[in-house]
Amino acid sequence: MATRILIPTPLRPYTDKKDAVEAEGATVGELLADLTKKHVLLKAHLYNEQGKLRNFVNVYLNDEDIRYMQKEQTPVSPGDTISIIPSVAGGAPTSAPDVGSVPLQLQLDRDLPQLNNDEIKRYSRHLIMPEVGLDGQRKLKAGRVLCVGAGGLGSPAAMYLAAAGVGAIGLVDFDLVDFSNLQRQIIHGTPDVGRSKLASAPTRYLTNDACVLLGKPNAYGSIFRFEGQASVFATRNGPCYRCLYPEPPPPGLVPSCAEGGVLGVLPGIIGVIQATEALKLIAGIGEPLIGRFLLYDALKMRFRELKVPKDPECPVCGLHPTITKLIDYEQFCGIHPVAPESTTVNAQGDITSVELKQRLDRGDKLTLVDVREPNEFQINRIPGTVLIPLGEIPRRYAELNKDDEIVVHCKMGGRSAKAADFLRSVGFRRVLNLKGGILDWIDRVDPTQPKY
Ligand SMILES: [Zn+2]
Repeated sequence: MATRILIPTPLRPYTDKKDAVEAEGATVGELLADLTKKHVLLKAHLYNEQGKLRNFVNVYLNDEDIRYMQKEQTPVSPGDTISIIPSVAGGAPTSAPDVGSVPLQLQLDRDLPQLNNDEIKRYSRHLIMPEVGLDGQRKLKAGRVLCVGAGGLGSPAAMYLAAAGVGAIGLVDFDLVDFSNLQRQIIHGTPDVGRSKLASAPTRYLTNDACVLLGKPNAYGSIFRFEGQASVFATRNGPCYRCLYPEPPPPGLVPSCAEGGVLGVLPGIIGVIQATEALKLIAGIGEPLIGRFLLYDALKMRFRELKVPKDPECPVCGLHPTITKLIDYEQFCGIHPVAPESTTVNAQGDITSVELKQRLDRGDKLTLVDVREPNEFQINRIPGTVLIPLGEIPRRYAELNKDDEIVVHCKMGGRSAKAADFLRSVGFRRVLNLKGGILDWIDRVDPTQPKY
């Protein structure tokens, strides 16, 4: 019996770019075993060394998380759909409506700020809707929202929250605005390049834990390529982000927006969904996205919803929490403060771009393999390189000679580290990974080529 397994964008390089794959099996575990037999590179993404499903990969049978069913023994019926939902590393800013700062019992008429005549005119389209009305607008004026990240998601979220009349908006960011961010981060302009902004994996766990510990809801959003995710975490009885993903993936295993790309308008949609949820929470109206994980696919223009139960074993919001104060999030996410730019999974057998240039100039016989995608290869390349995208390596490695010395590279060094590991596992002895990828090559060897 063949069952359809939906493959998320970050894992499609390992399924010949297919967004859905058929697999055989009577249980979820059998289906996944068949899937990873057909697509070998997927195995390392889905399972750890002990053969257990990785805890940053969630598997859903229709809209239910199999962890709350019979896990991998969950039986599958004809017509069922399996979804693999990995946590996404890229574009991570979240915003946390600070409604808790105005305790709900104090949000009585007399405690809310009055609107002046200008404000009544400005917000009249809100005021004439009975769901918002004057009281709702006064709640928004009393509301305080902290936008964690002023990037692609934070930009539209903050602008719409400000336009909607939220009284105080904080922006937290510690990253720098890069020229390549301007395609989607509409709050920034060309003169802002080099100024501060924020987006990183530890931020997501820091924000979640801070929200749980302080009792503030978290209007969450994340984006990757053409897909977005949104939910509301850390409400009193709702799940938190750690209920969904207790631990982050190791750095470099999941591609970031810098490595995978993102459609410029996508954060507009997801950031405005976050702002919508924040406004609803402050005004106390509607059905917030609590316990629901919203998936948006821009290419198909389709929304899906998965259930996110509150996990009684959750380390921060569960019945017996082990995290009762903020921790070292860089350490927790496996990021070493001394080398934050490192994206390689395995530092063994690295070569630097300067060493590579010296060896090529010396006439050493090296086979250069670019494991990026063809569209990236069109932008820039190291002369004399063979292109074999990472996902095609398992079936095309025979094109390479096991006795040759091989240098693999990608954009920044993450994907090529995986390619190097794979080649070594099938008997290649002399495999080197270009540290820092082609971006480092352009910085140090050939600055005439464009960077992306
Ligand atoms: Zn939780």
